[in-house]
Amino acid sequence: MMFERPASKSVALIVLVTLISAIVGGGAAAYWWSEECAFLLQERKPHEMAIVFLDVGQGDAIFIQTAKQQNILIDAGEGGRPDFAQAQSVYAGERLIVPFLRCNNINRLDYFITSHPHSDHIGGGPEVISSLEIGELWISGKDHPTSANEALLQEAERWGVKVEAPQEVGGSLLPGTKIELDCGAQLWLLYTNPDAENVNDSSLVVKLRYGETSAMFTGDLEFPGEERLIIHWGEQLDVDILKVGHHGSVRTSTSYPFARIVSPEYSVFTVGAYNTYGHPSPEVIDRLRELGSQIYRTDEEGTIFAFLDGEKIRIENKTELGVHLAAERASGVRPADLSVAIPEREDLPVTDFELKPVPAAERRQARDRLAVDLNNATSGELQTLPGIGESTAENIISYRDRRRRFRRLEDLENVTGIGPATVDRLRGKVKIDGEVLE
Ligand SMILES: [Zn+2]
Repeated sequence: MMFERPASKSVALIVLVTLISAIVGGGAAAYWWSEECAFLLQERKPHEMAIVFLDVGQGDAIFIQTAKQQNILIDAGEGGRPDFAQAQSVYAGERLIVPFLRCNNINRLDYFITSHPHSDHIGGGPEVISSLEIGELWISGKDHPTSANEALLQEAERWGVKVEAPQEVGGSLLPGTKIELDCGAQLWLLYTNPDAENVNDSSLVVKLRYGETSAMFTGDLEFPGEERLIIHWGEQLDVDILKVGHHGSVRTSTSYPFARIVSPEYSVFTVGAYNTYGHPSPEVIDRLRELGSQIYRTDEEGTIFAFLDGEKIRIENKTELGVHLAAERASGVRPADLSVAIPEREDLPVTDFELKPVPAAERRQARDRLAVDLNNATSGELQTLPGIGESTAENIISYRDRRRRFRRLEDLENVTGIGPATVDRLRGKVKIDGEVLE
């Protein structure tokens, strides 16, 4: 750190925000702390790790605290843009994330990880950086010259925060950068792609493992990235908790193969109430539910807490914490001072676990398995292909119904909405009778 941060600076900020909130009053403030936000974290069992999916409206902010209180934040919600739901500004950093951390007596983040440089993931980042001590800031490495991204990087520079972007190895895929946490927990940076066509698909993907329990956070990763993850990591993507990609968009993320291989016991959607994007998509919810997943969403459940003890997971939620309902009860708030020491415990779970990339020889088979069968695929499966939207998928199915089946790749050119360029993009991604068409 280049600058000292006296605690009083932030306390002053909190008091100021409280006052402003009280003056502005009622529904104007997305304002949410109370003693409760500290109780859940601090009264957990000594050996439990906490993952907190903060309700920051439409955006991501996920706080992780290990059993011995190492602190990690993945994404920092939206900045000052108006929230669709309540015609108010979100200011996730100063109104939600920093107050939440402060009321839990957290002044330092060991790791601040931003999945990708979109404002609903980094908008609150500058406030987080200026209010807390940051060990390392991890970014996807994707260039994105927006004011939100520049503000984040400038703030990091101003405070002398070390910024890390995972190195590219073997194309754009990561070999898996491992961060050892306390009590044997591990954080793996599985993937990023600074060369991705769009910013969402550059998302830095993180897997957390603690004993036998695990979680994965994919930012707004889209189909191409999901496919590369499957090919590179295979079954190791199977986790207990999934932060569902891109706020549950069916058009871009959570393909059938990805949902199947991850098969999460718990799926968490980070979405704003009444968002204008139609997130989360009912199809994605059904897709995960059919795999036996329990569904949680921040627009309905507020802030969602997952506690992992290395063997079991328990989930709690607080609807009153966060953007969604905070506006309805903005009174009676006060900073809490609830410092509860977490005692030492001997029998902590052992995380005996190493991730290994799928061997090159097997990646080809994985890719072949992922190819979509032109003669049997459902509309949803077809829509995970590049250049195929809902209407073109329906056209493929009605072509199949009329002509009975596809015999070669070029037959696709007879389908309304598909030209030679799209056919080219589908090479290696579709198959007929088990044979992948190149
Ligand atoms: Zn997003």
